[in-house]
Amino acid sequence: MAAKKIITVFGATGAQGGSVAGALLKDCSFAVRAVTRDISKPAAVKLKEAGAELVSADLDNEKSLEAALGGAYAAFVVTNFWDHFSKEKEVKQGKMLADLCKRLGLQHVVYSGLENVNKLTGGKLDVSHFDSKGEVEEYFRDISCPMTSVRLAFYFENFLTDCKPQKSKDGKSYDLVIPMCDVPMDGISVSDLGPAVLSILKSPKDYIGKDVGLSAEKRTVAQYAEIMSKVSGKTIKDAKIPPEVYEKLPFPGAQEMANMFKFYLMIPNRDVALTHKLNPNTKSFQQWLEEMKAAFIKAL
Ligand code: NAP
Repeated sequence: MAAKKIITVFGATGAQGGSVAGALLKDCSFAVRAVTRDISKPAAVKLKEAGAELVSADLDNEKSLEAALGGAYAAFVVTNFWDHFSKEKEVKQGKMLADLCKRLGLQHVVYSGLENVNKLTGGKLDVSHFDSKGEVEEYFRDISCPMTSVRLAFYFENFLTDCKPQKSKDGKSYDLVIPMCDVPMDGISVSDLGPAVLSILKSPKDYIGKDVGLSAEKRTVAQYAEIMSKVSGKTIKDAKIPPEVYEKLPFPGAQEMANMFKFYLMIPNRDVALTHKLNPNTKSFQQWLEEMKAAFIKAL
């Protein structure tokens, strides 16, 4: 029997890479090489138990990346802006990976990209964690490395953490503080990424050279809040916060996030129909929240 083609999965202990590694391991068509900086951490050990080969590598260490990519047929590449908040660092990591994938002859890279907002808006708006990934997407193409960019929508999981509803002043209800006015916002559970990436890897000819915007559905903040109220039994409302107020909120990255929402307000850029074609089990927000009900109520 021919050996399975190896897919190197970056960020395999995290949300995106974890979803991709999980879907590939479940499907069994490919061999999974899971990358982490720490092969002893529980998420890495779990991957090994599920059948993945573990490789220790650091996005800042070229030699280690070379070992992680050597002999692989394809790779899923994700970099984590929020680890360092540096556009330059994310571009450097992404370009180094692109160069290595090209040099080592990988036949397909699925890159977790986003738009270069600065370029698209003629320098009017900077969203560093988008701009960096957009620059890397362009670099993959400049050097003719066969790549598909998957551009994820806002994760539903953000509603459990950084974007969870905030207790209102009267203490009786909650405000959903997302500056989208009445414009529908794309969303998806990051757990639905993996099966979509698997579909892309299985049909390289259809997707190499393309940007795939992934979204389960588009809903207004008022609609997200209504579904949250229905599922949790709590009163949750759209705070109706404008981006100009949001950007001054006292948390690290408030300006960056406000700029991201300003971009979301400008361009509807995710493909719901294609997402459901790539992953027919993609969950709606309500389905996802029903599954996560206990965690959501605990997070409030
Ligand atoms: P995550 O759950 O925090 O996981 C980060 C992963 O990156 C971990 O597996 C970590 O591995 C790995 N990693 C970090 N620094 C590394 C390094 N120097 N070398 C090797 N591995 C490293 O993050 P995620 O949510 O999967 O992905 C984050 C990215 O998603 C961000 O760049 C963000 O812009 C993008 N994104 C987020 C959203 C959203 O709505 N939240 C939407 C679209 C795109 P180890 O610690 O095991 O080494």
